[in-house]
Order: sequence, then structure tokens, then C-alpha cells
Amino acid sequence: HPDVSAGSDPQALHILQTVFGYPSFRGQQAEIVSHVANGGDALVLMPTGGGKSLCYQIPALLRDGVGVVVSPLIALMQDQVDALAEVGVRAAFLNSTQTYEEASQIERRVRSGDLDLVYVAPERLLTPRCLDLLESSKIALFAIDEAHCVSQWGHDFRPEYIKLSILHERFPQVPRIALTATADQQTREEIALRLQLEQGARFVSSFDRPNIRYQIVEKANGRKQLLDFIQSEHAGDAGIVYCLSRKKVEETAEFLEQQGIQALPYHAGMDYAQRTRNQGRFLREDGIVMVATIAFGMGIDKPDVRFVAHLDLPKSIEGYYQETGRAGRDGGPANAWMAYGLQDVVQQRRMIDESEAGEVFKRVLGVKLDAMLGLCETLHCRRVRLLDYFGQGSERCGNCDTCMSPPVSFDATVVVQKLLSTIYRVDQRFGAMHVMDVLRGIDSDKIKQWRHDQLSTFGIGSDRSEAEWRAILRQSIALGLITVDHEAYSALKLTDAARPVLRGEQPVQLRQYQKPVKQKRSGSKP
Ligand code: ADP
Ligand code: ZN
Repeated sequence: HPDVSAGSDPQALHILQTVFGYPSFRGQQAEIVSHVANGGDALVLMPTGGGKSLCYQIPALLRDGVGVVVSPLIALMQDQVDALAEVGVRAAFLNSTQTYEEASQIERRVRSGDLDLVYVAPERLLTPRCLDLLESSKIALFAIDEAHCVSQWGHDFRPEYIKLSILHERFPQVPRIALTATADQQTREEIALRLQLEQGARFVSSFDRPNIRYQIVEKANGRKQLLDFIQSEHAGDAGIVYCLSRKKVEETAEFLEQQGIQALPYHAGMDYAQRTRNQGRFLREDGIVMVATIAFGMGIDKPDVRFVAHLDLPKSIEGYYQETGRAGRDGGPANAWMAYGLQDVVQQRRMIDESEAGEVFKRVLGVKLDAMLGLCETLHCRRVRLLDYFGQGSERCGNCDTCMSPPVSFDATVVVQKLLSTIYRVDQRFGAMHVMDVLRGIDSDKIKQWRHDQLSTFGIGSDRSEAEWRAILRQSIALGLITVDHEAYSALKLTDAARPVLRGEQPVQLRQYQKPVKQKRSGSKP
């Protein structure tokens, strides 16, 4: 990285120090500020906690007129405005929580040039009334926060964001800066395209969060493992636990409460007041564990979140990175922990298969899920894998589970052949449980009924436990050798990629199964 404050213009530095009270710019802030202050467009990719806000706040103060900040985070606007007021910046917001009178008053201030910054929800911005207001006012810049909301592939997609291209059409001379903490190559291109920022400068910061330790464990009893993890490494710490369903959120929060851990639920199905109350407590009080769906977290600025745990597999590395990124914003050590198992793979694949999406869309979701599975199953450094996904090369980190206790791999060709041929011999019409029972030589009624005890593969895998077979099956699915047919009672089917393995032309390397063990304490090297 270049010397951070060397190139910064003196006026910008002066504002940074006198208004915001910071001695120097961080990372690429100085460059971004000067680029935008001079009227340039920009797309800024910076991890959570990197300091994106100053990248548009300072240019807004340096330029004539009001800086218009488009943000989907209505619930946080009041806090943002209050924080700015505290340092003497004239800021306000326009959103649906205001009365007509309140809004009119803010509009008057925008028009008369009495504001430095105004935060606007995208749906509000797009109204003719608001666009007229902006046309009759002096605008310093447009900042489009959480710009990944424009991406249809992401889980934060907001249709109004697509219409923000109108800003470029109606206000061609006003500089625009789009910011996000999460965007793989595809999302970056999508943001640039949809917001017409192809000509703008791109500022991509390092996505590494060296203080976050990544751990992904085999799921046996997820809830119990989570409890062990919290008790052994994070007693009394604030953290976030992500679950896929609302029901699981509630059950998990209740379970943790019963175990003496202060936990609160959060999901979009709860009533608004309760949700807001829980969020407020999480932000203000110490040591609360928020159990939530992915509806929770965007824009949440709590510096001392010590861990983020996933009890279910995220859909993509972007989602995983974004969610885990909420840990350790203060730079102190933090853990990103996940329990992951066969069921996760099956469930996520099913959600894609069963979604209403078109074929192209499903394919994109499938590719994103595959990358996520690759991260879970990797035998190498998780961070290297993660950063590689964002197009950044890096060295083995020494601060992830695979670096700290490298997984042992083994030549699993024969074992996987046993699995594949069993699936083949039951005509690819049975699910995971039954296939594993055949392999292990279990005398179930179903096996007798179908005479599967007569198969040549019956019992050829009796030397391995069910948990071991699960791990082998999971990895084989992740490797794309087997698919789960959700239209046929979750029957396991062989893919084209299975053929060379069955024929012995393609060796398979898998992770050695390790019984789940109690968590080791943070910091204690194995
Ligand atoms: P982001 O939006 O990228 O997640 P923020 O803009 O909220 O990050 O900044 C994260 C934290 O870092 C805030 O507390 C902010 O005040 C602080 N910060 C930002 N820039 C600097 C800087 N140059 N020096 C010191 N602290 C900074
Ligand atoms: Zn590592």
C-alpha cells in the first residue's frame, strides 16, 4: 500500500483532523476522498469497518452543495445523523418514518443549502417530488451505500437500486460514489453496469481481516457444539449466531438462554417493535448473543462483536464473508465459526432446485454454492481460499483451523467407489440413509423389503461409522460426483463426473474424518 496520507490534499486532511478528530487517513481513504472531491465517479470496495463513510462525508464537506447519501438502512439513519451532528456536521434524513411537516422542513433546508449531508432511502429518492427537489438544489455528490443491493444474485437485492441509474441520467455533472463491503468479481461488474459506473475509478481495498480466525467444523450436534464453542472461547462475549430459518433462530436463542447465555432472537417474521428492541439491546448492552437470520446485520456498527457463528451453511462466499465480517471491527481477536454437515449441502442444493428462478439464475446460484462448499472442504488455508475468491492472492495465514491443525487427507478412491457403486446398484432410487445402511450392512426392514441384503455391496462399508460415511457422502456431493434428486424423494444419483471414478481413471482425495472434539481455547496453539 502507498503511504496513506502522503498524497492527501491538505484541506481534506484538515477536515479529517478538525471535524472528525482522526490524525490520518486509513488505507485508500485519502485517494478516494481526493478523487471524489475533484468530481470523479468511484466504486469503492472496502471491508466492513474499513472506514467507508468518510470517503463520501469529507468530499461532501469539501464540495459546494449537499451530499446525498442513498442508503437502504432506514433504521440507522437517525444514529448516523446524530453522530454527525455531534461533530458539527449539518446532516438530516428523508424517509418514511417522518411526518409530512418534518419532511417539508428538511426539504427546505436542502433547497436553501443549509445541509452538508442528507440521507435518503432509495424508494424515497426515486419519487418525482424528491427528484424535483434535487434538481432545484445544489448537489455536492451522490453516495450510494450498500451498493451490492443492486445485485440480483445477492440476498440483499433491492429492486429500487436498479432504478438509481437515473441519477447519472438526470444529474450527469454530479459525482457519484458507490460503496460496498462485499462484492465478488461478478457483483462488481453488475454494480458498475447497473449504476453506470463503468467509467468511474475503482478502489479495491484488501479484503483480509487478519484478526478474524476462521474455523469450520464437522456438524454432529450443531447446537451442542455451538454451546461448547461459546462456553470455552467466548463466555460473556457479544456474538452473532446465524441460522437459516426463523424457527431455528427461536429454538436456538431459547436453548442458549436455558444454558445461561444471554441470547436474543432476530428475524423478519418478528414484530417490528420487538425486533428493534432486541437490536437495541444487542448494540447497547455487553455480552449479548444475537441469534438471527441473515435479515440481521447490514449496517450494524458494533465494534466488539467477538464471534460470528453459523449453524447453517451460507449460500455463497460473499454472504459468509459479509456475515463473518461483523466480528472484530475494533481490530481485536475474533472468531468466525461454522458447523457444517451433509444436511447443509442437501438443503442448499434443494433450495436452488426448488426455487422459482430461471435456469441461468439457478446456474449462478449453483456456482456460488460450489465455491462455498470448496471453502468448507478445503485442505488448505481458509483465508487463502477466501481472498482468492475476491481475486486477492495471499500467503498461508496461520490463523485459521486448517493452518493451525492441518487436516489429513487420504486416498479415498476405493471408498468412494464403494459408495458410488452402491448408489448404482440400488438403481439411484434411494436416499442417503438407505444407501448408508446398505454400505454398513444394517438389517433394516426397508433393506429386507427391497432385498438389498442380496446386493454385492451390502456391508462392504461396515468398517466405518455412519458419521464417517456421512462425511464421505457430503464431500462426494461437494465434489459433484453425486447429486440429490429432490423430485424423487431425495434419491442419490450419479453424475457424469462419477464415471471416471468408478472406472478407476480418476483418483479421489478426501479429508480424513475426525471425531468432533471439544473446542480448544483461543490462542492455545495445538
Ligand atoms: P464501514 O462503513 O466501512 O464499515 P465506518 O465508516 O463505519 O466503516 O468506519 C468504521 C470505524 O472506523 C468508525 O468507527 C470510524 O469512525 C473509524 N474510522 C474511519 N476512518 C478512520 C481513520 N482514518 N482513522 C481512525 N478511525 C477511522
Ligand atoms: Zn490459514
